[in-house]
Amino acid sequence: MVYDCLIVGAGWAGCVLAERLANGLGQKVLLVERSNHIGGNAHDFVDAHGLVVQKYGPHIFHTRLRPVWDYVSRFTDWNGYVHRVLAQVADRVVCLPINLDTLERLYGRPFTAEQARAFYAERRVPIEKIENARDVVVSQIGQELYELFYENYTKKLWGLYPHDLAPQVTRRVPIRFDRDTRYFDDPCQGVPKDGFTPMFERMIASPDITVRLGTDYRSVATSERFGRLIYTGPIDEYFDYTYGRLPYRSLAFRFETLDVERFQDAGVVNYPGEQDYIRITEFKHLTLQKHPKTTICYEYGAAEGRPCYPVLTEANRQLCERYKARADELERVHFVGRLAQYEYLNMDQVVERALALYEEIRTDG
Ligand SMILES: Cc1cc2nc3c(=O)[nH]c(=O)nc-3n(C[C@H](O)[C@H](O)[C@H](O)COP(=O)(O)OP(=O)(O)OC[C@H]3O[C@@H](n4cnc5c(N)ncnc54)[C@H](O)[C@@H]3O)c2cc1C
Repeated sequence: MVYDCLIVGAGWAGCVLAERLANGLGQKVLLVERSNHIGGNAHDFVDAHGLVVQKYGPHIFHTRLRPVWDYVSRFTDWNGYVHRVLAQVADRVVCLPINLDTLERLYGRPFTAEQARAFYAERRVPIEKIENARDVVVSQIGQELYELFYENYTKKLWGLYPHDLAPQVTRRVPIRFDRDTRYFDDPCQGVPKDGFTPMFERMIASPDITVRLGTDYRSVATSERFGRLIYTGPIDEYFDYTYGRLPYRSLAFRFETLDVERFQDAGVVNYPGEQDYIRITEFKHLTLQKHPKTTICYEYGAAEGRPCYPVLTEANRQLCERYKARADELERVHFVGRLAQYEYLNMDQVVERALALYEEIRTDG
């Protein structure tokens, strides 16, 4: 069989493009996925206790991009979940991002927006030239809050202290001057009502899409015939690591099912202290599932494993540019998604890029 398009990877990028090419242009698509499931990083499933869990950590869809929200909403209803994150700091549980309530709990006195502004102005450390991730934070919120929320947390996540990491790792520190407890302020947010995986199943249900799980791109690249290739895997792997590997920080997950209905007060609780884990997710908050038990997931930073966060250094950016230059030379081969573009991208950004690539293909042929 000759396919119009071979798509490598059945995560967000691969599924959106398979759907668009099949349903929008009537093309025959072969979608290959190395792992034994669809959905990529956003895959969820029902565990042995009947609880819906997300295999690679908490995923909440959130966006300001109306066309992206409208597109994804064709394949799912949303459960209305609004993401809230708490942090266990010292002996207190506080809201993140830091808002007026967070300051009040930490300092045991009332704060107005004005007082909070004055508080940060007093503590902010003036730094002429921001050189690392620590500088970014202390220049915005001061040394004490940096130590409470960022120092250990970053070390656990990245294996390095913020002063050894590029400024982009912490970028802008979110602070609120009100009592808004939402983690994301995007107007559209939630979790698919029946889960991410059923949503992806609906997306790629067309008879024009052939899905092969447990199939590496290399095993079909020469045996199948196809007019176009869309590649959503790691860009360095595509080029056999000719110039070297693009480094990633990874995560490890440990799931536990408890005989209680509720374990914690929010979907995610961060642990910026001495514990070896970074955060704990309790999925029932995200999925709104009613169940007498609950499954939680401890998350740890890891040097090896599934690629999670690109390591943003100038050297790695340049390495990636070399691969991208090679990619640009190829005809009818497209690289899209977080691994193919070596960028940390939220799900809505991946959908946006996949839809933009579809438009390019549709108009240019
Ligand atoms: C811990 C964590 C939490 C996150 N939480 C959120 C969140 O709450 N909200 C949000 O918007 N975003 C979140 N993200 C980001 C989100 O996971 C990504 O934006 C999204 O999943 C990327 O989709 P993708 O298709 O680009 O990549 P992926 O989902 O990684 O899909 C790529 C697929 O390609 C397959 N593949 C690779 N190479 C080959 C090959 N050679 N042959 C066959 N198949 C191959 C892989 O197995 C994979 O399934 C989170 C990320 C992490 C790490």
